[in-house]
Amino acid sequence: MKRIILVSVLTIVCIPAFLGAQQDTVQITTKRVAGPVYVLDSGSAGNIGVIADPAGAVIIDSMYARFENPIRTELRALPGGEKIRFVINTHWHSDHTDGNKIFGPGSVVVTHENVRPLLTEPQTLLGQTTPALPAEALPSVTYSDTLTLYAGNLPIRLVHYPNAHSNGDTVVFIDKYKVIHTGDMFFQGMFPFMDVANGGNIENWVRQLDSILSDLPPDTRIIPGHGPVVGVAELKAFRQMLYDSAEIVRGQMKEGKTLDQIKAAGLPDRFEPWTKGFFTAPQWLELVYQSLAEK
Ligand SMILES: [Zn+2]
Repeated sequence: MKRIILVSVLTIVCIPAFLGAQQDTVQITTKRVAGPVYVLDSGSAGNIGVIADPAGAVIIDSMYARFENPIRTELRALPGGEKIRFVINTHWHSDHTDGNKIFGPGSVVVTHENVRPLLTEPQTLLGQTTPALPAEALPSVTYSDTLTLYAGNLPIRLVHYPNAHSNGDTVVFIDKYKVIHTGDMFFQGMFPFMDVANGGNIENWVRQLDSILSDLPPDTRIIPGHGPVVGVAELKAFRQMLYDSAEIVRGQMKEGKTLDQIKAAGLPDRFEPWTKGFFTAPQWLELVYQSLAEK
């Protein structure tokens, strides 16, 4: 009961800009990350990673179907971008999966096993209902812990990190070129969304990022779910922001502060740079509170 109330409060105050703001026009920019790896950035929907391959490209996430024309235009400029062989979904959120409607027919859609059930039923998030995907847009391959795909001879490793941003997060490693696509386990330079209703958990998220960071070559290029491509230092800063946010909220909860009091107290000034994205500090604090209150 407690959680239902919290969710409804969040719904009222949230601006779900990245979950389906109905832009008619979108500008998508393509940048090379390393070797055959590119990123398509719309500034709103989740970043599409592309592994170009003359035999047919692999894409990581698919934005929205209504972005079809600009997405196709950008992909056609890349080797193999006319024919998408694999679509990897990093998690279920519609700004990463709705474009499966474009690419599902004719491609193999791959995702973590917890993601597919969420795509087969309507889901309500931030006050917005996402319909189930049509059958041809659904993943046809799911995995549990790890899976390796190949673009020609290039291995593409999918690794599941349980209960971080959601219950079905995949990070994609293109080890040869020292590139990873984190999905929404990383929002570069902004407070993230956390899908507490579907297994997202702040403390576990920090632990999972520590696990990723412990194995990452220092010169790795990182494609975040949202925001520009950056390096390891920025991912560490994001991990630290999550950790510090949890410490602050946990401390206030121990003192018996209410959610309203915690939101009113806000965060120290050093958090100000993180407010430039989709979520304000009070909205982020509410997500952290929800996650810590779940125990
Ligand atoms: Zn997400």
